[in-house]
Amino acid sequence: MARYGGIDLGGTKIQTVVTDEAHEVLGSARHPTPTTGGPADVTLAMIAALQEAAEDAGVSRGELTAVGVGSPGAVDDEAGTVTSARNLPDWEGTYPLAEKLETALLAPVGLSNDVNVATIAEFELGAGRPFQSILGVFWGTGVGGGVVLDGQLWEGRGAAGEIGHMVVKSDGRTCPCGRVGCMEAYAGRGAMEVRAREKADEGEKTVLFEIMEERDKPRLSSGIWERALARDDKLAHQLVDRAVDAIGVGVASALNLLDVEAVVIGGGLGLRLGEPYVERIREAIMPHLFADHRPPEVLLASLGDLGGAIGATLLAAQQAPLPQR
Ligand SMILES: [Zn+2]
Repeated sequence: MARYGGIDLGGTKIQTVVTDEAHEVLGSARHPTPTTGGPADVTLAMIAALQEAAEDAGVSRGELTAVGVGSPGAVDDEAGTVTSARNLPDWEGTYPLAEKLETALLAPVGLSNDVNVATIAEFELGAGRPFQSILGVFWGTGVGGGVVLDGQLWEGRGAAGEIGHMVVKSDGRTCPCGRVGCMEAYAGRGAMEVRAREKADEGEKTVLFEIMEERDKPRLSSGIWERALARDDKLAHQLVDRAVDAIGVGVASALNLLDVEAVVIGGGLGLRLGEPYVERIREAIMPHLFADHRPPEVLLASLGDLGGAIGATLLAAQQAPLPQR
């Protein structure tokens, strides 16, 4: 009777699950990602979060069959290392994450890129299940993407699927990646916050930062954007409209090249704004779609917030047992 652990390591939270062999969730936990320290501190927080999920599932230490991790940064699946994860504290060099976790958790650990893990999760277990080819679009702080073609994840030479850096305006705004005109420069929650701050400083009225202070948040979270939209904040509407438009242009360009069967929209902001905004993205794609007589399905990710962690348990299921000691 297999018991899999899944860890979704994010810039703000560490989400963990423990599942059975059918990847049904038996227990889960969520901890904030440490904002100080370094890889070792983040690793300790990951272990604590997974142990809490295991307790929740009634699984004791040493009983996990295997563990999977979706991580940001440059992930070397073979070596089990993570290098220069921008959103994690002081994670500059190469850190042997899989080995450290294996020692602490007494289970084999598999590691992969977080967005690829989330894409595979939607493909195998979520909204992408009926299809052979999908494009996953994860609309959050940045905009991540994953491509599955003929049932296989397409990684290119390791950097495929960067939908957030599709160019939607050749002389456009500067992206967090340093280039100009990327989709993420308009649609990433990080870039949207920068733009909102600029507009507010120019004297434009908005409730965005009031809500942020009321709720004692360090940044404009997805929930704050949702509240501002509900209060009909003009600037919030403008920036979200611009984001939807940029996603439409970028995704349509990707579709013209790949002609996949379905687009699955997830990510913090995507999940929070939900189906009404998926419908708007569907509409924003259409004017730019070459084969517009036969548009692909555009669907909301169905595994929700747990998608990344559940996807990581798919990775766990591929791990060979640790050698007996
Ligand atoms: Zn970019």
